[in-house]
Amino acid sequence: MSNVPQVIPDALRHDWRNLADLIEATAHRQVVPCFNGRDVSHAWWTSDNASERKEAARECGTCPIVNQCRQYGIDRPKEVGVYGGLTESERTKEAKR
Ligand code: SF4
Repeated sequence: MSNVPQVIPDALRHDWRNLADLIEATAHRQVVPCFNGRDVSHAWWTSDNASERKEAARECGTCPIVNQCRQYGIDRPKEVGVYGGLTESERTKEAKR
């Protein structure tokens, strides 16, 4: 578990794969673009518009939990939206590797 961010409270360290908890815990200390990003629409992450999803994926690049989120999304390719900077189709490709 060495890749678990230091901002995660001890109570969550055993279950950091619960992404919603991880996002909330991290967002108390750092900016998580899809949660508390400034000048960013949260709707981009699940938008029907490909250019908005692409912009959301770009914003993920600054997220402190991007690696954990990306793995979460790859493990769940049927989830809708952008996870860890990858769109659904990109996550599906990664899952097949
Ligand atoms: S990597 Fe992207 S989708 Fe995942 S928590 Fe961060 S901003 Fe949200």
